[in-house]
Amino acid sequence: MDLRILSDTPAHHKELVDVASLFFGRVNLTEDDSDLTARFTERLEGGARVCGVVLSGCVAGAHTTRGEVGAGALEQKRLHKRQVKLTLYYALKQATGIAPPWGALTGIRPTRLVYEAMARGLSLEAACLETRRLFDLSAEKTRLLEEVVRAQAALPAPAPRDVDVYIGIPFCVSRCRYCSFISAEVGDGAALAPYVAALAREIAAVERLIAEHGLSVRAFYMGGGTPTALTAPLLHEALSAAGGLIACAREATVEAGRPDTIDAEKLRIIRAAGVGRISVNPQTMHDATLALIGRAHTGRDAEEAMALARAAGFHGINMDMIAGLPGEDATMFSDTLAWVRGMRPDNLTVHTLCVKRSSDMHRWQDALPDGAAVSHMADLGFDAARGMGMRPYYLYRQKHMAGNLENVGYALPGSECLYNVDTMEDHVSVLALGAGGISKRVWPDRALIVRAANVKDVSGYIERVDEMAERKVALWRQDAFAG
Ligand code: SF4
Repeated sequence: MDLRILSDTPAHHKELVDVASLFFGRVNLTEDDSDLTARFTERLEGGARVCGVVLSGCVAGAHTTRGEVGAGALEQKRLHKRQVKLTLYYALKQATGIAPPWGALTGIRPTRLVYEAMARGLSLEAACLETRRLFDLSAEKTRLLEEVVRAQAALPAPAPRDVDVYIGIPFCVSRCRYCSFISAEVGDGAALAPYVAALAREIAAVERLIAEHGLSVRAFYMGGGTPTALTAPLLHEALSAAGGLIACAREATVEAGRPDTIDAEKLRIIRAAGVGRISVNPQTMHDATLALIGRAHTGRDAEEAMALARAAGFHGINMDMIAGLPGEDATMFSDTLAWVRGMRPDNLTVHTLCVKRSSDMHRWQDALPDGAAVSHMADLGFDAARGMGMRPYYLYRQKHMAGNLENVGYALPGSECLYNVDTMEDHVSVLALGAGGISKRVWPDRALIVRAANVKDVSGYIERVDEMAERKVALWRQDAFAG
């Protein structure tokens, strides 16, 4: 859908496109012929800003809002942007009759708004209600939000010198069609050994950094890609190199996402390295869907991987599934949920399909279930997780998610993954190693985050690994911010 925006504040146009996407899916901003034109006006009246929009084209309508101007340049900018977005949101809601479940929320994590309101002294309940009122959240999503923040409040809070360590293994045995991550196919495997050797160098440098700054590892997470796409000897080498980090972490997780990369030997290596948490990600039990999305395993492979993981003694096993895969309906999704339930995971992550431009999936657009169907699937996921005794403990949203919904992590009480929460809430610094890793230094009391990125491509990473380590050292030298 092509959208033309006429306004005096072009700086807001990108966010306005995001708002329009809530109603129309993929939206392109244009200055020429368009499917829809949104003409904005603004004026100050009695100390308030009056913002109006008139829609013409595929839908027609108008809406006006009154909003406070605010004090201070930053606050004024924030309130202005919010008001313009809400003006378009309500105009489109009236014109289309569509009520997005997360209301006008785009570009910010829902939990972040609740935490900000709580920091201003509101109770959890009041903070959720305020978020609902400001952004027009549905009652159901408001309850989910409240439950997630309540679950997070029960988890161990990070200490001032805590850091998380992330190690990326950017290789997979084949590429899923919905994938938008940095991941290369293993191919002939020639890059694996040099990559692990480079990782070992970066790990050693990070261990020195941790010791020098007196940091404490809160969560260790090896993700990707698929760490178990490494051969058993190389997996052993990588985990041995990281042994010191794993030993002092409060929790340690390795993603074994693709069931076709898991075998008893690799699980034994992971467990022997002191890792207690693992993720086995079947996405669906339906073999035809698995083939369609480019995964070279079956539901049966996932069952076998789960049985092996239990036998190996893992105490925190997560399973990922996706609502909204091509050709699937609520009955098929329900079948997958029943099947997952039979395997008794400790954590369940229910994603809703996100079709990014960088993935291959928008070619299947016509085969994708509609938003209402995906919303029903997400509800089924919620009920199934409840039925297994789990509760939601983190959630996040992305652009172009089916039904404008969310991804939700559920866990049995006591089995929550701290790393997932830390990543979503940005309240712990992260040392990220490997190609594409993005380290971040967080100063929670200043709401300040500074990032240092590793190069994305594998060969560049191998060649420049010492420089990647040095970027982290430089990031942790930025004591001027620490106060
Ligand atoms: S397993 Fe994950 S990282 Fe690998 S191709 Fe599939 S979605 Fe991408």
